[in-house]
Amino acid sequence: MKKNIGIIGSGIAGLHLAYALRNEFDITIIERHTSEEIRKGRIMSTQVHFGSTRSREERFNMPKWEEQSLIESIHIMIGNQKLFAGMLQEPASSVDQRLYYAHSMKDLDEKGVSFRREKVDNESAKALLEKFDLIIDCSGKNGPLFPFPLETELSPFPAPQRKCIVGYFAGIKANEPPGVSVTVLPGLGEMFEIPSMTEQGPVTILFIMAIPKSDLDVFKGMKNGEEFTCKMSDAVQRFFPHVYKRMDMEKFKLCDENGYLQTAITPVIRKPYLMVHDKLVVGCGDSVFLNDPITGQGCNLSSFCAEQLCETLIEWKHSKWDGEMGESYWKRTKQYVKEVTEWTNAMIGPLPEHVVQLLMQGAQDQDKANEIAQWFADPTTAFEAFFSRMNV
Ligand SMILES: Cc1cc2nc3c(=O)[nH]c(=O)nc-3n(C[C@H](O)[C@H](O)[C@H](O)COP(=O)(O)OP(=O)(O)OC[C@H]3O[C@@H](n4cnc5c(N)ncnc54)[C@H](O)[C@@H]3O)c2cc1C
Repeated sequence: MKKNIGIIGSGIAGLHLAYALRNEFDITIIERHTSEEIRKGRIMSTQVHFGSTRSREERFNMPKWEEQSLIESIHIMIGNQKLFAGMLQEPASSVDQRLYYAHSMKDLDEKGVSFRREKVDNESAKALLEKFDLIIDCSGKNGPLFPFPLETELSPFPAPQRKCIVGYFAGIKANEPPGVSVTVLPGLGEMFEIPSMTEQGPVTILFIMAIPKSDLDVFKGMKNGEEFTCKMSDAVQRFFPHVYKRMDMEKFKLCDENGYLQTAITPVIRKPYLMVHDKLVVGCGDSVFLNDPITGQGCNLSSFCAEQLCETLIEWKHSKWDGEMGESYWKRTKQYVKEVTEWTNAMIGPLPEHVVQLLMQGAQDQDKANEIAQWFADPTTAFEAFFSRMNV
């Protein structure tokens, strides 16, 4: 008989795991929302799936998306000075998570994965342990549902370091070559511009990360999408005039009434396993590895860790699932989690001088610019660039 696994949450982590494991184990996804509620609901995030994540999606036979959403480059600006557009080695893609999650849930349902609609709380989570050989907590940033131990060294912030302000908009002319644009305003925050695909067609995401209480932290008390859109247009005109130039104010509007979001995240990293009443529980994705979105690594880290957990479970398929297996999963992921997290945390503060120098070199040298773009696709290279010189 196949072992049975309960996955709480059908986000990036839960979906990757369900696709990856469905042929080896009996999978049940326990999710608080139906696919229709997700499809019609509020946007949840921004997202860029880099080459390695797209390869994993292919490996696990996850749904394919239209080519039109491909992202080829990363544009970097500091203040109003354009430094460069670095080319990615492999294209990336960005599909609205409402569409991605809802479509994948339906597809998995048709492929025989069981779904249970339930908002799990700490009590019901414990009860689930009795019904499954293993529970995987993929409840995302609202989790975790189990007390996974804190990794103190990787969790230095007691409070959010940015206010996240996101809108999915029509009416913005794309940058060339097609790519993600990052504008850093020292002392104020950042803006990410991301071409994406939604159910309504292509959009441009405007994602402002405002340092709390700075002059960019102006999105307070927004009551509806209209107010949000007006405020975004004012903020872009004032702080990001190079983006404003590409906005057609006749056409500038949210892709739908739920296409905006304001949130703030306190980054927290936890050891992704624990024993509850002699039973192993593991965590995957934001529930255990929650970083600030400033480096755009959340989906990619969730996807990476889902693959490592999948490899671990298959390797231990015929053995007892206990703390030793949990440790084996953590050993596979720890170094990567550490590198992504330390790079991300370094990006939150003022950039180190040697990194500013590297960015300036990127403005003169296309190979260097391409290397910097690749930091986002392969964050271990960013970690190396940020920290190897400091250790000399
Ligand atoms: C503003 C913002 C911008 C971001 N930008 C990027 C980016 O550009 N690139 C990138 O890679 N990452 C980005 N991220 C991070 C990225 O969205 C997450 O890392 C990723 O979605 C994590 O996937 P997950 O599966 O762990 O969690 P989620 O995607 O949050 O999924 C969790 C699932 O669990 C369900 N759930 C939660 N609690 C319960 C419960 N109690 N019972 C049942 N079900 C439950 C939820 O409904 C949801 O479906 C951003 C995040 C934010 C907030």
